[in-house]
Amino acid sequence: MAGNPQHINPHPIPKHAPLVDPFGRKIQYVRVSVTDRCDFRCVYCMAEDMSFLPKSEVLTLEELERLSLAFINLGARKIRLTGGEPLTRRNIMSLIRRLGDQVAAGALEELTLTTNGSQLTKYAEDLAAAHIRRINVSVDSLRPERFAAITRWGKLPAVMDGIMAAKSAGLAIKLNCVALQGVNDDEYDAMIEFCGQHGFELTLIEVMPMGEIDQARSDQYLPLSTVRQRLEQKWHLTDLPDRTGGPARYVRVAETGQRVGFITPMTHNFCESCNRVRVTCTGVLYMCLGQEDAADLRTPLRASESNDAVTAAIYDAIARKPKGHDFIIDRARPAAAVSRHMSVTGG
Ligand code: SAM
Ligand code: SF4
Repeated sequence: MAGNPQHINPHPIPKHAPLVDPFGRKIQYVRVSVTDRCDFRCVYCMAEDMSFLPKSEVLTLEELERLSLAFINLGARKIRLTGGEPLTRRNIMSLIRRLGDQVAAGALEELTLTTNGSQLTKYAEDLAAAHIRRINVSVDSLRPERFAAITRWGKLPAVMDGIMAAKSAGLAIKLNCVALQGVNDDEYDAMIEFCGQHGFELTLIEVMPMGEIDQARSDQYLPLSTVRQRLEQKWHLTDLPDRTGGPARYVRVAETGQRVGFITPMTHNFCESCNRVRVTCTGVLYMCLGQEDAADLRTPLRASESNDAVTAAIYDAIARKPKGHDFIIDRARPAAAVSRHMSVTGG
């Protein structure tokens, strides 16, 4: 029941000092992975025969809500739900509605979602009703056969229907596209055109060395510096000063009027302005996407009904947030820079 005050945080947690890390960065953005499972098996994200976590290790939706509220009370202004595929988690709308109530109440600035789009025809209206205003949808190809090859199990027509359902529901849409050498590198012009036609933003992403997959990362990796040079032969791109505290840098495409973002963790990292942390579906807090250090929040969360212990654990972890990541993709170093897959930490 979106907006109903009696559903808003029945046990208010006392306000605490905001979260500031050792480098003076204010932590205001939390990405919450609600499941490690997915209905796709994208070649750069997962191995085909992934093993997933036993359900007992995964936080319940109520626990995910408590944890999110703890972060909100520590000054988080934005929460992004991700995964795995967040919309495949059973009853996920109940969590989304409860967090959407926080937006309605002004306690949270924004609730967003990153999704592969497979379930959007079913959920688009509900998401809009739950105070979600924009979503990111991952689409690495606009060609059905290629899309199927990249996602292994995905069907482009269903995703496209979902995207259009989200557009009709009034959600702003950003397409995420991972740049893959020799796989989709002839499609970025088409993506810019498609996004221009529909009023969508586009973000191009460099592939990151996370988790073992079935092929070499160095074969997939395409630096976005190269992509940008190629795009500039067809489009007029103007750098924008827009900053989200994240790793994206934006340009305006004069011909379409739309923004295109470049996420370049490999060629250029922007860790110095990082304002975000990530929580896995088992309650592990990662202070950096590209480092192994983490804090267990599930134990303090389950230890008592009060949020004091979990709040202390969050402060403790933020005090250890590293300066940045050390991703390298290199034929001489075939091992992943971090052992966990992106689907664990949620991208
Ligand atoms: N399943 C949802 C989706 O695909 O949007 C949410 C989770 S997915 C892990 C979040 C984002 O991470 C997606 O845009 C995906 O393309 C991206 N991603 C996954 N593995 C990656 C990798 N190794 N390097 C760069 N981006 C990756
Ligand atoms: Fe699933 Fe998203 Fe990973 Fe693709 S990128 S396998 S859709 S979690």
